[in-house]
Amino acid sequence: MAETHLIFDLDDTLYAERDFALGGFRAAVTWARSTLGVQIDVDRMLGLLDDGQLGRLFQTALSEAKPDHTSDDLKEFVRAYGRQTPDIRLFEDAAEALAHWRSRTRFGLITDGHPATQHAKIWALALAPKFDHIIITGALGPDRQFHKPHPRSFEQMQAALGQPGDLFVYVGDNLSKDFVAPNALGWTSILVDRPAHRAQRIHKNTTAPSGGEPHAVVGDLCELQRVLA
Ligand SMILES: [Mg+2]
Repeated sequence: MAETHLIFDLDDTLYAERDFALGGFRAAVTWARSTLGVQIDVDRMLGLLDDGQLGRLFQTALSEAKPDHTSDDLKEFVRAYGRQTPDIRLFEDAAEALAHWRSRTRFGLITDGHPATQHAKIWALALAPKFDHIIITGALGPDRQFHKPHPRSFEQMQAALGQPGDLFVYVGDNLSKDFVAPNALGWTSILVDRPAHRAQRIHKNTTAPSGGEPHAVVGDLCELQRVLA
């Protein structure tokens, strides 16, 4: 009999990525203070994040505090961010949805990022025992080669969990990359956009490329029951 498989993105889909960023900023400014002797404001870094300055955030914050910093200083500053012990928790609706669907379907996780960083989040959220298959795309090859929208992780997930005729559903938050590959594979794609969390979403300003529009939008993961009915 055909089965449904619920595959989730991690960051800003199951927990608030801004909380992870905040913990990392705290670790990075602590490092900068003790090693470089400079004061960097966590709120300044959060402000850059909320402005969508993702790519240049660390460089900007460090340059403001220490214009003559070296490239090694910057590398260590970013590394300190990654060494944090995450203090994060599942969105309430995510915890409820996982509990509801656990006995009804199999779960997969497809998440972009550095394997050590993503593992730390998965550990902090205690997700490993709940999920049947977890793919961190950064572990599939170097240089973000297999990050979404590359289809490799989705093909591997399908091969790991599915049988012919099975329905796969991907739930994510990032319009720019989350839905291209699952759409192309015939999966059902669902964007989660929580109104109360919208202003703090890391990828709130993205748009969908051609073929990357989700089939449905939900305001939280409890609504999956309605969409998948
Ligand atoms: Mg995400």
